[in-house]
Amino acid sequence: MGNLKLTSSNGNNRRTSVHVDGVTIGRDFVVIAGPCSVESETQTLITAQKVKEAGANILRGGAFKPRTSPYDFQGLGLQGLKILQKAKRETGLPVVTEVTDPRDVSWVCEYVDMVQIGTRNMQNFSLLKEVGKTDKPVLLKRGMNSTLKEWLNCAEYILAEGNPNVILCERGIRTFETYTRNTLDLSIVPSAKELSHLPVFVDPSHGTGRLSLIESMSLAAMAAGADGVMIEVHHNPSEALCDKDQAMPPDMFAGLMKKLQVLGTCMVQWNQERECQGLVRPQ
Ligand code: PEP
Ligand code: MN
Repeated sequence: MGNLKLTSSNGNNRRTSVHVDGVTIGRDFVVIAGPCSVESETQTLITAQKVKEAGANILRGGAFKPRTSPYDFQGLGLQGLKILQKAKRETGLPVVTEVTDPRDVSWVCEYVDMVQIGTRNMQNFSLLKEVGKTDKPVLLKRGMNSTLKEWLNCAEYILAEGNPNVILCERGIRTFETYTRNTLDLSIVPSAKELSHLPVFVDPSHGTGRLSLIESMSLAAMAAGADGVMIEVHHNPSEALCDKDQAMPPDMFAGLMKKLQVLGTCMVQWNQERECQGLVRPQ
């Protein structure tokens, strides 16, 4: 397992909450939504307004896109961060963006409320150490070929540098299946919660790569005990510059938010009953 002295739950039910500019992750279910990438001011502001109206808690948007091909859209960089800041001013939603280069960490942190480490960088140890030196919340995606233990050791790198604000995020792993873009490993959610006190998120957008599957996998993530989901939403999916096959239109997102609310109420009631029966200790 390695030494997970800071990441481990040590076998008890102690849970950590992470505060992202007024939003507490690790208590109530949290929804992060927004475009795969910040493409323009108009696209980001319209999408931000729509996800806010639907009840999302945090806005996402990539300004540095790690793409498979060097010729694909790479993101707007600093201009994208300024657009995210404007979207925050207009909606009040905290913002999260991916950081890909250790040299960018300190200045990118000045523009956003949370930084994301993408699946391709999960084991980029110099990047992990750099975000570990800040106090920004870090959304640490699971590497697409990584085991739970490797993932938790990466969280440990960040915690060991002094930053306790880490959220784990399952985003699908590589398997022999080709129908879905990745295989969303929902059993990792209760597994990670058994071994670690850190909050656990699920990204069913990259986890499936298919719009038709995102709603059911979001509900399943909640049922599995996830602390929240991250969903890619675009105001006009057919024109998305990145990941258009999994981009959710705002009306569908609003429908999903309603279903999450209904299931969330059931989950809270169910957990309270279990607590009363002494089956679980209150967290
Ligand atoms: C993203 O969330 O924008 C992203 C690129 O995700 P992943 O690193 O999981 O592919
Ligand atoms: Mn994407």
